[in-house]
Amino acid sequence: MQQRLRIMHGDITRLQVDAIVNAANSSLLGGGGVDGAIHRAAGPALLAECRRLAASQGGCATGEAVVTGAGNLPARAVIHTVGPVWRGGEQGEAELLASAWRNSLRLAAEHRFATVAFPAISTGIYGYPKAEAAAIALRTIAAFFQQHDYPQQVWLVCFDQQMYRLYQQQSELSDNTL
Ligand code: ADP
Repeated sequence: MQQRLRIMHGDITRLQVDAIVNAANSSLLGGGGVDGAIHRAAGPALLAECRRLAASQGGCATGEAVVTGAGNLPARAVIHTVGPVWRGGEQGEAELLASAWRNSLRLAAEHRFATVAFPAISTGIYGYPKAEAAAIALRTIAAFFQQHDYPQQVWLVCFDQQMYRLYQQQSELSDNTL
């Protein structure tokens, strides 16, 4: 697990990786937070591709993921996934968040993306408690790594110190259980 996982600070829009993951909303038409930052950096080609996807398949349901090109980003592709809005924890949020991570990883594996960078899905505007979100992310990644060779590396990109610490703690825990 440790060699395939990298926990880092940074701005995901600047990373030169095979794919970055976007914490999108189900319209796929852009929003605030990391979604807004990705669209600003990628330029109009990404929005045009998202509009086409939204028109042809009606956006992206919560827990699902879709792939697009990356416009002007240094990454090669963007995996858009929709995490759940936190509504107190009794509305299936944990399973939906795990699905968002798993379906993004599955698309990365299908496309044989070697390195994929993830933001902390749902923990910003969508209000998911960060410690629980970190635990779900790390558990889902550990399970996925046991069954798949791709992605070879997952980068967990943190915008704040708290998320960084929570990921560190959780990765030590999941190493003990592997
Ligand atoms: P959601 O709506 O899924 O909660 P947000 O975009 O509001 O998504 O936040 C998800 C996480 O992404 C938060 O931890 C936020 O701090 C972080 N974030 C925002 N901008 C960036 C960026 N440019 N690079 C990496 N992470 C970012």
